[in-house]
Amino acid sequence: MPKIAKVVVEIALDREFDYQVPEALSATVRLGSRVHVPFGHSTARGYVVGFADHSDRQDLKAITALISPKPLINETMLKLARWIGDYYAATIEQAIRTVLPCAVRRKGAGFIEQTLVTLASPAPDAAALKALRQRAPKQAAVLEILQRDGAQPLTVLVRAAGTTPSVVKSLAEKKMAILTRETAMRDPLADQVILPTAPLALFPEQAAALSLVKQSMDTLKPPVVLLHGVTGSGKTEVYLQAIRYGLDQGRGAIVLVPEISLTPQTVERFRSRFGETIAVLHSHLSDGERHDEWYRIYEGKARIVVGARSALFAPVDRLGLIVVDEEHEPSYKQAEAPRYNARDVAVMRGHLEPCAVLLGSASPALESFCNVRNGKYALSELTHRVDHRQMPCMRIVDMRVEAEQSGRMDVFSRDLVEAIRKRLDQAEQTMLFLNRRGFSTSVLCPACGYVAVCTQCAVKMTWHKGCNEIRCHICGRVQRTPNRCPTCGLPTLKFSGIGTQRVEAIMRTLFPKARIERMDADTTTHKHAYGRILGDFKAGKIDVLIGTQMIAKGLHFPGVTLVGVMNADLSLHMPDFRAAERTFQLLLQVAGRAGRGDVPGEVIVQTFTPFNPAIQAARRLDYQGFCDQELESRKELLYPPFAHLICITLESLRAEAVERFAQALAGRLAPALPKAVILAGPIPAPLSRAKGHYRFQVIMRSTSVKAMILPLKETLKALRCPPGVRIAVDVDALSMM
Ligand SMILES: [Zn+2]
Ligand SMILES: [Zn+2]
Repeated sequence: MPKIAKVVVEIALDREFDYQVPEALSATVRLGSRVHVPFGHSTARGYVVGFADHSDRQDLKAITALISPKPLINETMLKLARWIGDYYAATIEQAIRTVLPCAVRRKGAGFIEQTLVTLASPAPDAAALKALRQRAPKQAAVLEILQRDGAQPLTVLVRAAGTTPSVVKSLAEKKMAILTRETAMRDPLADQVILPTAPLALFPEQAAALSLVKQSMDTLKPPVVLLHGVTGSGKTEVYLQAIRYGLDQGRGAIVLVPEISLTPQTVERFRSRFGETIAVLHSHLSDGERHDEWYRIYEGKARIVVGARSALFAPVDRLGLIVVDEEHEPSYKQAEAPRYNARDVAVMRGHLEPCAVLLGSASPALESFCNVRNGKYALSELTHRVDHRQMPCMRIVDMRVEAEQSGRMDVFSRDLVEAIRKRLDQAEQTMLFLNRRGFSTSVLCPACGYVAVCTQCAVKMTWHKGCNEIRCHICGRVQRTPNRCPTCGLPTLKFSGIGTQRVEAIMRTLFPKARIERMDADTTTHKHAYGRILGDFKAGKIDVLIGTQMIAKGLHFPGVTLVGVMNADLSLHMPDFRAAERTFQLLLQVAGRAGRGDVPGEVIVQTFTPFNPAIQAARRLDYQGFCDQELESRKELLYPPFAHLICITLESLRAEAVERFAQALAGRLAPALPKAVILAGPIPAPLSRAKGHYRFQVIMRSTSVKAMILPLKETLKALRCPPGVRIAVDVDALSMM
């Protein structure tokens, strides 16, 4: 047994430290073990990440204690953590924190012990109970409940009987009840009745996709399958049957879905097929629930994990398949360090396990599409909706023509109003999509040109009508709406720009009898609001649902026959090279909400740029065509997927300090980089100020991440970052804000 352990302590130092393994622990300390080690003048907790026979350091200290006998991370997950740290320029501690959830790591995390009360046998007969009822009515009540409902936790029993624990304890002393201690599992899906479902018959395209996935699971050839299926084509059924195939061979699975589509609908589908062996991991779980779910997986009681981004790191043993649904979703990218993309890490975990990886989407990311073209991934296509239901028909409305003909700027085109009226008459449902909340998106004074801008961020304030406040959507600052212009004092303030609130208000005047609901971050602040609105909509209690991107994704409502996109130009004009791709994906996603029942769907897209290629390709539902033209322009400019892009954002409260440091960084970096790397900046970030911080960016592009990361790490080490300046390194950045 090696005498030296390499330990990463839970303090971000980006270093491994050598410790002696004491004789007493040599048999039990393993790779991934959690240990206590002396550190400086105190002790620290850490993980054993490697072993060595000798150390360059003299007089090594020894590991003090082993925290848990069974390692929480295995060798594969350690390798994955190291890869994340190297690739995404994060410290090894950050990477380990990523693969091991806080709920499992933190001090005091543990199972809840509870007292279970069971009726002793023989149970008291009717006569004995009657006698007891007269002498000690509370004790009798407890016994009656136990007789009727069976054993139950002390806390529940006491509440049901309206009594105190001492009453139950005196019953135990009289040997009429038995108290035992046991582990209470916090089940996030408790109280849900779920009816089991059987596998559905597959259509030929689905069957072909399934057989390719099975082949991948058996032989790892191909290692990754991209399932490109139009909305409503039955991708989930392919996932379910592939998972069943693995399960029958004793292999587990992880299914990632974007947080936003991790709805009860989704979870129910998996649970109704696989029952108790499903574990769910997402951000709305309490720490306790997360801890217990993690251990259910760790101990092999749950073999299939459904969850958002971080579920990728679930400790599933003998993993057979990782599914990444909606693989193009930007929400798979973590916003804090390490800024990993769960889709890409899934492919790496698949490679290390090894196991098959299945990526699914109606509009795959260009990166994935390119990996098919260059032979890294295999492609499987579902070109029809199940039952050959028609794809929706998409109509583009030129809002310039509308404005010209009506002589004013209307929020709703006449076509859209007519289409909604028709749906209301036919008792069909409509969804209206606008990715901006609030009532008016700018507050300005036509007299002097004043615009209400957040004092902390370089963005306009949005007017929220109900509470009559103006709010910053970046930092959340709230301010009463001024009656007069703060600059010139005239009472001439104007409110312009359209948010979801305003769409709702106009709808209510246009269709006073319609049942209208709005779903955005403002109406879903209550925990259950999201589920309630969706439930009402599904049950047909809502005619028109207005919402932000919250309503665009993954939801299935057979009653919806019309989808209106209020302003397709919003995402198109973002300062980002992915703006066209985003718009195209969004339109396809939104269109996917229409006509999933028996009546064919219609999509009306309002835009001021009707001939934009992304909008036209979306109208034709032409994925290949869009990719071809978009890839051509990306290739010319050496943008992803033809290069990797690293975006370094520097922020500080002091504009001068951050600009100077950004210049120093770019100046030092340029000569250190290989010639093929393209370096741009420093330039002010598109969001040039946020929460009081001034923001600058330095951007690098190259076909090799390594060619950029190593010189970057060296440069950052050599350059002392001035106090108050924050650096964020984003490898394969998806957002350039
Ligand atoms: Zn003014
Ligand atoms: Zn702000």
